[in-house]
Amino acid sequence: MVKFCDCPGHFGYLKLALLVFNVGFFNCILDMFKCICKSCNRVILMEKDRREFLKKMRNPRADALQKSATMKKVRDKCKLSCCPAVITKMVWLKMS
Ligand SMILES: [Zn+2]
Repeated sequence: MVKFCDCPGHFGYLKLALLVFNVGFFNCILDMFKCICKSCNRVILMEKDRREFLKKMRNPRADALQKSATMKKVRDKCKLSCCPAVITKMVWLKMS
């Protein structure tokens, strides 16, 4: 096993003053932000769906194409969904 200091691909790092997004991952990061509730910072999915997608994304046998397809399904489902925590809070407020 090659140690970190022996790796020819890592020459060091730059400490930046501001947060910088990698342009190669920018669209992916935007997609993830669109799937997160702005009030409670949770994923905008029902718990059952969230667990199902998490299982698919963590599957070690799934290749990049399958994970990309799963991410697209998550993004599409998040567009149609409303935050479950917000719905629960609204129902709770209506009942009280
Ligand atoms: Zn929320």
